[in-house]
Amino acid sequence: MSVVSQPNTKVYNILIIGGSKGGVTLARELEQAASHLPVRITILEKREAYFHTVGALRAVVHKDVAKKLWIPYSNLFRNTGRYGHTVVQGVLTRVFPFHVEYASADSPVNFLPFDYLVLATGSSYPAPAKMCSFTVSQGIETSMRYYQKIREAARILVIGGGPVGVELAGEIATEYPEKRVILVHNQSKLFLDEYKDSFRDKALEELKGLGVQVILNEKVVIPDEKALDPNLGSRILRTASGRAIESDLQFNCTGITVDARYMHSLSDNVSQLVDPYKGQIRVRLTLQVRDPRFPHIFAIGDCNDHPCFKLGIHAAGQGRMTARNLRRLIEHDVSHQRRDLARMAPLKLEEYRDKSNLMTVSIGPYRGVTQSRFGLVLGNWYSRIFLPSKAMAVDTRWKDLHADRVTASWLQDDL
Ligand SMILES: Cc1cc2nc3c(=O)[nH]c(=O)nc-3n(C[C@H](O)[C@H](O)[C@H](O)COP(=O)(O)OP(=O)(O)OC[C@H]3O[C@@H](n4cnc5c(N)ncnc54)[C@H](O)[C@@H]3O)c2cc1C
Repeated sequence: MSVVSQPNTKVYNILIIGGSKGGVTLARELEQAASHLPVRITILEKREAYFHTVGALRAVVHKDVAKKLWIPYSNLFRNTGRYGHTVVQGVLTRVFPFHVEYASADSPVNFLPFDYLVLATGSSYPAPAKMCSFTVSQGIETSMRYYQKIREAARILVIGGGPVGVELAGEIATEYPEKRVILVHNQSKLFLDEYKDSFRDKALEELKGLGVQVILNEKVVIPDEKALDPNLGSRILRTASGRAIESDLQFNCTGITVDARYMHSLSDNVSQLVDPYKGQIRVRLTLQVRDPRFPHIFAIGDCNDHPCFKLGIHAAGQGRMTARNLRRLIEHDVSHQRRDLARMAPLKLEEYRDKSNLMTVSIGPYRGVTQSRFGLVLGNWYSRIFLPSKAMAVDTRWKDLHADRVTASWLQDDL
């Protein structure tokens, strides 16, 4: 396919796929930055409401949290703009150069056109850290199922000592000091090697202080035929070295996966667009996809292969930068009276160069460990005062989405 020119479209359709940290930050910023431009912003999101992942692990030990993690999109846009900004519920299935196909409750195949497309489809994580449910009621039900299973279990195995495993073990051990929590990690220290030893040691000290049994340098063999379903109950799993670990409930906290198969329809040469091993969308530092034929398609956040850590702060930072770049591109289009993909190439766009591994890990509501942007390691006091340990930033996220508790009918439901 050669570079395509299009006649000037009067209204620029900006289509964002995925309404989470990256997509929502972008939409909010762009709404403001491009308020003077003929722009229509559409978010295509498979879930009925925003899911605040940061609080997911608190929800499985505190019953009242789960329903607050689902935030309605109804007031996301300050106003719907002259051209009708909107959130559409559906699952992206295929991407083409100027439109996408998606499945909705009404029809398996629907279409949305775009002038600029931003893929912000993120990553998956085994429940309860992230939700595969599309509806709020199913999502809350999932959190409640884990809540109940944790209450019933005496011995709980957490597989993986990254931030999610550490947070989960910390939440359970804080709420249920009488239970036996075992965390197994395949390295000599918690987290990844990229983090400072003092940060990794501090987290270990905090977990041990809560009575968590941490087993390092061991890898639990997760049997293929039996996923770690909470209904499987008591069982013995073995580590690669043969050590047997008995538990009543197991959690898989071994990291994210990315699925961008919707890109296969865009090109015969998919490996130029998607990393065949990691599944991530290949991007340049401008976050445009790496195939030069599609300078109008961007990917931000967890779904791309940008060499930064996969964190909400980076997804949001990339969303903000992409809003500025899109504004620039649309202003350029408007001033040239036409949209010409060939002209985009020489346009200098901002590049995302922040690779900082700032990290805060809550270890229950009163503890936490932080490695700051400048490598400073901070303990409980910092997490308690400035960071989300206690409230998991739930109120902040509701404010970010301009959300109104009255429109969230599920808040009134008894659990
Ligand atoms: C338990 C937990 C705690 C965390 N805590 C922190 C923290 O404290 N600080 C921090 O910086 N990071 C934290 N992270 C990491 C952070 O959550 C992610 O980096 C961030 O959510 C990535 O944002 P994203 O918008 O790129 O993707 P995601 O949050 O994964 O969102 C992707 C969105 O796209 C939608 N979607 C996916 N596929 C499709 C499709 N085909 N069609 C339509 N919609 C689709 C999904 O439903 C979802 O809403 C945490 C992660 C977990 C699991």
